[in-house]
Amino acid sequence: METIRHQRDEVERRIREACSRSGRNPRDVNIIAVTKYVDLERTGAALDAGLIHIGESRAQEAVPKWEALGDRGTWHFIGHLQRNKVKQVVGKFQYLHSLDRFSLAEEVNKRAEEAGKPLHCFIQVNVSGEGSKRGVSPEELTEFARETAQLPFIRIEGLMTMAPYTEDPEETRPVFRGLKRLQQQLRTLDNPRLDVPHLSMGMSRDYSIAVEEGATFLRLGSVLVGRQN
Ligand SMILES: *Cc1c(COP(=O)(O)O)cnc(C)c1O
Repeated sequence: METIRHQRDEVERRIREACSRSGRNPRDVNIIAVTKYVDLERTGAALDAGLIHIGESRAQEAVPKWEALGDRGTWHFIGHLQRNKVKQVVGKFQYLHSLDRFSLAEEVNKRAEEAGKPLHCFIQVNVSGEGSKRGVSPEELTEFARETAQLPFIRIEGLMTMAPYTEDPEETRPVFRGLKRLQQQLRTLDNPRLDVPHLSMGMSRDYSIAVEEGATFLRLGSVLVGRQN
């Protein structure tokens, strides 16, 4: 637990530095502790260390953790979600970061209605255009967002992207900047349900750059809670 606190202090220090370089308020940057590489005990230790947001990416591992610890913290599902797993996640997790197709949005809406509470969602955008990355294309985004915004049990909070893996994290900057531009584009539509305040971007290798480019949710695994096995 000491190491998690230590890592958190270090991450927060780098966030403050990135904020001062870019004229931002560190309060606007939320840290999600991505616990997909660690066990239940260490996930609990992240909560004990004062981290509030927990991110998981596979339903099979996430649900047992939620069952043990779900009354603590705010839970974010950040990985690819299959339609047949939606009902395991909705009603438990408060946020979904990987809304990337309309069939998924419809299923989420249906299950959230059954659970009686809307799900906060990020639309995942494939800004870099890499074939291996999921997400709607920048060209499809407006149309997708308009249709999804009509589903009453989905609250669109913002956009999410994953930058390509590069040797030099600086190369991720255009991707983050691209997501920010798409956010501004949605906000000009004058649709109150698309007045999206958040950007979920930045992982262990590139979060300082993501903060400089406007991230409001960072998804941090290895740098924060480490990896087991
Ligand atoms: C695993 C994962 C992360 C965290 O990765 P790190 O590089 O360990 O910080 C962030 N976002 C998503 C979608 C992930 O799957």
